[in-house]
Amino acid sequence: RALNFNAGPAALPEAVLQEAQKHLLNFNGTGMSVMELSHRSKDYEEVHVGAQQQLRKLLAISEKYEILLLQGGASLQFSMIPLNLLTKGKIGHYVLTGSWSEKALKEAKKVGPTSILASSKEDQYRSIPSIKIEQLEGDGAYLHITSNNTIYGTEWKTYPSSSIPLIADMSSDILSKRINVDQFGLIYAGAQKNLGPSGLTVVIMKKDLISTPPDHLPTMLSYETYSKNQSLYNTPPTFAIYLLKLVLDWVESEGGVEVIEKRNQEKAKLLYDVIDKSDSFYSGHAKPDSRSNMNVTFTLPSEEKTKEFLHLAQEKGFVGLNGHRSVGGCRASIYNAVPVDHVAQLAEFMKWFQVRS
Ligand code: PLP
Repeated sequence: RALNFNAGPAALPEAVLQEAQKHLLNFNGTGMSVMELSHRSKDYEEVHVGAQQQLRKLLAISEKYEILLLQGGASLQFSMIPLNLLTKGKIGHYVLTGSWSEKALKEAKKVGPTSILASSKEDQYRSIPSIKIEQLEGDGAYLHITSNNTIYGTEWKTYPSSSIPLIADMSSDILSKRINVDQFGLIYAGAQKNLGPSGLTVVIMKKDLISTPPDHLPTMLSYETYSKNQSLYNTPPTFAIYLLKLVLDWVESEGGVEVIEKRNQEKAKLLYDVIDKSDSFYSGHAKPDSRSNMNVTFTLPSEEKTKEFLHLAQEKGFVGLNGHRSVGGCRASIYNAVPVDHVAQLAEFMKWFQVRS
């Protein structure tokens, strides 16, 4: 198995892949793969409802919230959120912390009035900006944040609280740590980092935000459609949902989100310690108080050194360490499924590379 530090789609737990492989041809004695089951069958229903229940349990999601299973990636949520929630006369408030929040704002602007409450763009998105909730002007529909900025490697440590629903794009840190779901009106995440394979998007939404949509809204873009039909209005991505269920079962078998959170802190520390003790050979992109535990972004003294680093890393079996094209440098994505041992090996490699340079 590769030492996989890809930003997404990302590493999955080996045990999950083995389990899926074991039952690939014959799931639950059906003589069929999960992929071949009718999405209306009892065997599939257990998988579907089981995944929702397991997520509810792991994140302690109360019955005030609906768990919706959708397609279209986190990117479709950039549009669905304003289409459903930016009702006439209201404003969608956004905090810009990177390219994904910019994209979310861009889509909302097509739907209705928006405002930027805060931004760290001028700081090359090295930090999470401090915000002044009193500056929320007018009749706000929601406040949108990106809880973890996959490209820049920054992460919110505490979440803002105001009188309007808080919406978070948690694509790259959902299930990486304990959260209080009650703080949010809506949480969404593309599955392909901490939850499973791509092709599935999870939305956790407060029931009282789900309302009858305007007539012009296409059926498939309305949250009500998914809510009324248990996310089975049309054919869901059944195999991806099956893998989600296996990933969630794996999280439980590891001891739950609290154990995963501690492990993630330990993994992130291994890499940030190397950066901080490197006498500026490695420079972290994110400011220390905004550092992500999921995506560790850093640069080396020159383009040439970066190339050499990436080349040698690849030779030693490390995959996916190049930074996003908009930031450059390097990025190690250390999601839930990346073992501590793989991160420790990367930390050793980084130290070795500095010494030989
Ligand atoms: N939001 C964040 C924070 C992401 O990291 C990504 C993808 O990496 C997206 C949104 C886009 O997700 P998708 O490709 O599922 O549309």
